[in-house]
Amino acid sequence: MLLDLIFGRRPNQANPSAPETISVSGRPVALQFTRHPRARRYLLRLLADGTARVTIPRGGSVQEARRFAERQTAWLETQWQRLQNLPRVKSEWVAGSQILFRGERFTLECPAPGMIQWGSELVRIKEATDLRPAIQKHLWRLAQRELPPRVRELAKVHEVEVNRISIRNQRSRWGSCSRHGNISLNWRLIQLPAEVSDYIILHELMHRRQLNHSARFWQEVEAACPGYEAAERWLKQNAGLLGS
Ligand SMILES: [Zn+2]
Repeated sequence: MLLDLIFGRRPNQANPSAPETISVSGRPVALQFTRHPRARRYLLRLLADGTARVTIPRGGSVQEARRFAERQTAWLETQWQRLQNLPRVKSEWVAGSQILFRGERFTLECPAPGMIQWGSELVRIKEATDLRPAIQKHLWRLAQRELPPRVRELAKVHEVEVNRISIRNQRSRWGSCSRHGNISLNWRLIQLPAEVSDYIILHELMHRRQLNHSARFWQEVEAACPGYEAAERWLKQNAGLLGS
């Protein structure tokens, strides 16, 4: 499980034998080429593991295949988003299920038909079979409302500049930071204890000073967030949340 992803590094520059990548919205996507004598044209597919595979037809070249993929980055971005949103863990939420919210466990209760409640939250639902989509939407909205102001607040305290802040449905990480200061956070931060959520935000903010995980980076994290090791432990123990 990755805590985060740092955009902007191109591994193939450091190591020429590493697989080639293509930049899709600032994110490196591995590029794979395969020749197919019966293919009539170049074909592009985004595989389940996130690799972009280009099929080269008879008489085609890797160079042309690369150019072909580069022209399709908008399509790749759409496919990538679709992949992120595929449900990988089938676990339904029904009345009586327990969910984690702001670091506490709550039981989903149904106080009235078409209503679901936990803690201070009340959500109207249409379909009663699986409550997850409606609840996730609600949690996402809360995350969208609360997380960006918190990022800006902490950025101000620690005197780092941030650019765009987006709230996403990432399956394998809590957050990311691009070299241009675009910060993405997982909506699931709303499920975490406040100090763990703050740690993730501070972690991404410190990447504005060090775009790596060097000892110097961890010194910055330690200075900004002295309790970070406990937060790291909490995340390791609750890594399963990302898949849900
Ligand atoms: Zn990091």
